[in-house]
Amino acid sequence: MAARRSKRPRPRTVDVATAVVSTGFGLTVGLAFTATSRHQLSAPGGVALFLGNLTGMAGTYLLLVMVLLISRIPFVERVLGQDGLLRWHRKVAPWTITLIVAHVIFLTIGYAQSARSGVFHEFATLVGTFPDMAVATAGFGITVVLGLLSIHSVRRRLRREVWWALHLLMYLALSLAFAHEVVLGPSFVGHGLTRDIWSACWAGAAGLVLTYRIGLPVFRSARHRLVIDEVRSEAPGVFSIILKGRNLERLEVSGGQFFEWRFLARKFWWQAHPFSISTRPNPPYLRLTIKQVGDFTSALAELPVGTRVGLEGPYGAFTSYAARSQRIALIAGGIGVTAILSLLEDLPRSSRPVVVFRVSSEDQLVFHDEIVNLVKQRGGRLHEIVGTREEFPVERLSALVDDLAKREAFVAGPEQFVQHVTAHLRNIGVPNEKIHAEVYSL
Ligand SMILES: Cc1cc2nc3c(=O)[nH]c(=O)nc-3n(C[C@H](O)[C@H](O)[C@H](O)COP(=O)(O)OP(=O)(O)OC[C@H]3O[C@@H](n4cnc5c(N)ncnc54)[C@H](O)[C@@H]3O)c2cc1C
Repeated sequence: MAARRSKRPRPRTVDVATAVVSTGFGLTVGLAFTATSRHQLSAPGGVALFLGNLTGMAGTYLLLVMVLLISRIPFVERVLGQDGLLRWHRKVAPWTITLIVAHVIFLTIGYAQSARSGVFHEFATLVGTFPDMAVATAGFGITVVLGLLSIHSVRRRLRREVWWALHLLMYLALSLAFAHEVVLGPSFVGHGLTRDIWSACWAGAAGLVLTYRIGLPVFRSARHRLVIDEVRSEAPGVFSIILKGRNLERLEVSGGQFFEWRFLARKFWWQAHPFSISTRPNPPYLRLTIKQVGDFTSALAELPVGTRVGLEGPYGAFTSYAARSQRIALIAGGIGVTAILSLLEDLPRSSRPVVVFRVSSEDQLVFHDEIVNLVKQRGGRLHEIVGTREEFPVERLSALVDDLAKREAFVAGPEQFVQHVTAHLRNIGVPNEKIHAEVYSL
């Protein structure tokens, strides 16, 4: 029996989720207003204390939203894709950190004004005297340091694994933020019901993270019990891993999607890497195809047959569900062919797609026969381009595919390739909603 496709994305559900989250933000800000009386506002330091509470409530609410964005809730992920969710996570982050920094500054000024002392002296007193403030300061420190490390130019210099391990500290910062807020926050002290609802929201977010980032992957990995069945060379520096597993007909995945793979061998098990399926599952087999670009991908080729493999996903909105029209162009740069190839399998026989596959040298034209067959079955055309960017500038795509501007485009591959192609598509008038991209780095 063939494997099933993933469920159809339902953008409406994301609209509803957005409305719920926005209402929650409004209510949270509202809580800060109801927690302060006119009398408190007019007292020395009252305005600063109010602003401190307001920015604290808004900042921690946005922290919660950031957690939800990376919890990979399937019905949201199917619409926005993991890259879309990460984009939002990164967009919200500067606002969150700014609000939390403002919270600390306003509160310190407020307490200093009410105690008629200096700001630095007051900060030292707060942290040194009240244990809950020390807890809060630790959480604040972690948040700020991780925020700085996440700035693109800084993050680029860190090894991805180091950055990821440090990022896990954010869960500690979140626990500390929550702990001090419910004990000291004016919106919660003496307001049992509000505190319970707030706590339930945080517990719900923690539950979603545990379910979707740990529970579901463990369940799926146990259900399918994947092992490496074969490692097959496809081209210099490119190889396929054929996995064999159980119940793969129950694994819902669409062409173009990817999993985070965890190879359960010494030195490998602790990191998960994303790889697209390079063909739809053919139970009991599943294939991924990997280009050796760094230490992890280079070492993978040496893993012995029989190695257990865990999976998290499927992820990605780069599927045929995203297509709004019948005229489609699939454009792959190098190893981006994996997503394009499995996506091609999902296109109907009547689709007449144009497939463009760009590589830097002829020996990288992997899966030639497979692509030719699939394209032929669908009455389409295949263009294989060999050469560097200088030898084949992206502008020449329009000459190659005369109706490119009228087609809906799916582009996959390395970041620079995808950026150049999508920029060209926009230049020739393809609307944004008809350009779908899968960049092979997150
Ligand atoms: C959605 C998606 C689908 C992909 N599909 C394929 C595929 O089918 N075949 C294939 O060969 N490659 C694919 N990749 C790229 C692949 O994940 C990276 O090449 C690989 O993780 C590099 O690991 P490395 O340690 O060998 O190289 P490194 O030198 O450590 O990394 C090279 C680059 O890969 C990216 N990268 C590294 N680790 C990760 C990670 N854990 N998560 C996300 N990005 C990472 C970074 O941008 C880094 O700059 C895909 C990437 C994404 C995001």
